[in-house]
Amino acid sequence: MTQTTASTCCYCGVGCGVLIEHDGETILGVRGDPNHPANFGKLCSKGSTLHLTGDLDARGLYPELRLGKGLARSRSDWDSALDHAANVFADTIREHGPDSVAFYISGQLLTEDYYAFNKLARALVGTNNIDSNSRLCMSSAVVGYKRSLGADAPPCSYEDIEQSDCLLIAGSNMAYAHPILFRRLETAKAQRPDMKIIVVDPRRTDTCELADLHLAILPGTDVALFHGILHILLWEGWIDRRYIDAHTEGFDELKTLVRDYTPVAVADICGIPQADLLLAAEWIGKAPGFLSLWCMGLNQSSSGSAKNSALINLHLATGQIGRPGTGPFSLTGQPNAMGGRETGSLANLLPGHRDAANAGHRAEVAAHWGVERLPESTGLTAIELFEAVRDGRIKALWIACTNPAQSLPDQQKIHEALAACPFVVVQEAFFTTETCHYADLLLPAASWGEKEGTVTNSERRISHVRRAVPAPAEARPDWAITSDFARRLEQRLRPGLPSLFDFASPEALFEEYKPLTAGRDLDYSGLSYAILDTRGPQQWPFPAGATAGTPRLYGDGRFATESGRARFHADVYRAPKERRDARFPLTLNTGRLRDQWHGMSRTGTAARLFGHVEEAVLGLHPDELRRRRLQPGELARVRSRRGSLILPVQADDAVRPGQAYLPMHWGNRFLKGLGTNILTLPAFDPLSRQPELKHAGIEVERVELP
Ligand code: SF4
Repeated sequence: MTQTTASTCCYCGVGCGVLIEHDGETILGVRGDPNHPANFGKLCSKGSTLHLTGDLDARGLYPELRLGKGLARSRSDWDSALDHAANVFADTIREHGPDSVAFYISGQLLTEDYYAFNKLARALVGTNNIDSNSRLCMSSAVVGYKRSLGADAPPCSYEDIEQSDCLLIAGSNMAYAHPILFRRLETAKAQRPDMKIIVVDPRRTDTCELADLHLAILPGTDVALFHGILHILLWEGWIDRRYIDAHTEGFDELKTLVRDYTPVAVADICGIPQADLLLAAEWIGKAPGFLSLWCMGLNQSSSGSAKNSALINLHLATGQIGRPGTGPFSLTGQPNAMGGRETGSLANLLPGHRDAANAGHRAEVAAHWGVERLPESTGLTAIELFEAVRDGRIKALWIACTNPAQSLPDQQKIHEALAACPFVVVQEAFFTTETCHYADLLLPAASWGEKEGTVTNSERRISHVRRAVPAPAEARPDWAITSDFARRLEQRLRPGLPSLFDFASPEALFEEYKPLTAGRDLDYSGLSYAILDTRGPQQWPFPAGATAGTPRLYGDGRFATESGRARFHADVYRAPKERRDARFPLTLNTGRLRDQWHGMSRTGTAARLFGHVEEAVLGLHPDELRRRRLQPGELARVRSRRGSLILPVQADDAVRPGQAYLPMHWGNRFLKGLGTNILTLPAFDPLSRQPELKHAGIEVERVELP
């Protein structure tokens, strides 16, 4: 008999509710949950095909172990596999110290999985070498919120998008990356045509279809653009002096800086008409409600933190925050990137929005976990972590639910690192990823519809993710794998002591974790699985005793900084690290397609999702094709300073001359070479350490066929 289980979609940060139809063994279909406040029953092409992506041929079913480099892996059992891993990790830690091991995890994990990994790394192993692939997608937004508003808390709700009078969408093709949110915006715009929408993107994306104004800035010039808008707001008197005086600090320094960002200068830096810049500033300055949305175009940059702060400056200068239809609203890419931020799953963080560098924060978490202390050493972030693997400092690496052999920049070096690492564990649902190739131990993980826990979406809303069917064969939930391994490791590292990982269910993990949020900006100590089940998904803060979540933050003008005032930041515009030059005259932009997700380990199993775009194609302006005597569909060699690919080109006048666009989804399973990220560079933002995946210098040449 067909049953229905309410859960959430496992793809993007919109966090749509889904109803899984199943017979208790097999998932038969999926529908949008009409009661979920993110999507009200709608699903996009990816969400509505979730039930078509369960291809067992791609799934990991049993642990696989190899007992020496160069040998083949063979089927193992859980006890042997995890005992072997615990022996190797314990020996490595004893011989080389706790910082000789590392964990690289994922924004796809559930909050309970994250919590288990964090406790394992920091409390048991004693290392801060735990970072997440969220480093690649939103660590610049974390820094932007913390340095400007005092806490990593997006202050808005989805309903603010519908209530806004002027929306600035910067570096986000939300039509593809957050489709259901984009549909909500389309509906709002149809009902309120006077709503102004400004899209800032070097490329004319599908999101621009809805725009009243498209600012096709030159790649990476966002900071200059935002400073230029502030210059005009100041000149025209469209700032809110009362709000600035009452609720902020640091404005005078910024005011001095933006004097130089005149409309003439900024139009030149950004490569846009001055009239468009003036119009954007006027709409923002005169709007009763101004809201901004942004994503990877700002975050994946060597100046990502400065871009975030420069955009938040506009809200603080106009007092456009804390009211319906206003605020700086970062969209998270992955389904539970927010949960990772909350549980401290970046090397520099600790659970409950704490900092690993803060001795008081370390002491609070250590006390909660019942350990003497937490490690003081600085944890390695994604790019640095794999450099340490490559040069031999990291000798045992645990990777969960992510595919660095496709997603990290400068792929040649990542593959060298993984090949050189003495012991690599990969905990994965799909055994088809590039990273699995390097695993000495492959552990099969349960996937969507097969495991339970919680996720937080872009609007701080926590949903209960429910299990509908059992995982195939011997696959296990991530929290259970991590806790089982941790128990075996603690027998070797701290024998005789009570276990720190005596968890019987994900709910037990949630209950242990949630007091760590009490009294913090994100306080959801009042939430429980029972409340989520009876009252539905809730937005934090949800402190003990609360009866409802919190849709909007900072309405009282008090911020989470020590002074209670928001801070302006006066960062000078800096160009992307790799500029176009004679050898590499094109700037490569990478991004998403509508129907694919990340490295396609899941979406690549559904034929229907290739109906939109079948293969990886490099988009170039027709002038650039002519200049290179290339015809659409012909194969070309694409070279950067780090490597090359061969793939077809297409004429695309949505891409400006001097630029190129390539989807991020294809790895070496699909392309000749190591995938899109063979081309990208590992430069990163000095504060957020998020790599600059959006701007690489390339050249494109004809491939002369024999
Ligand atoms: Fe899933 Fe995102 Fe599509 Fe919603 S918008 S169905 S969360 S992929």
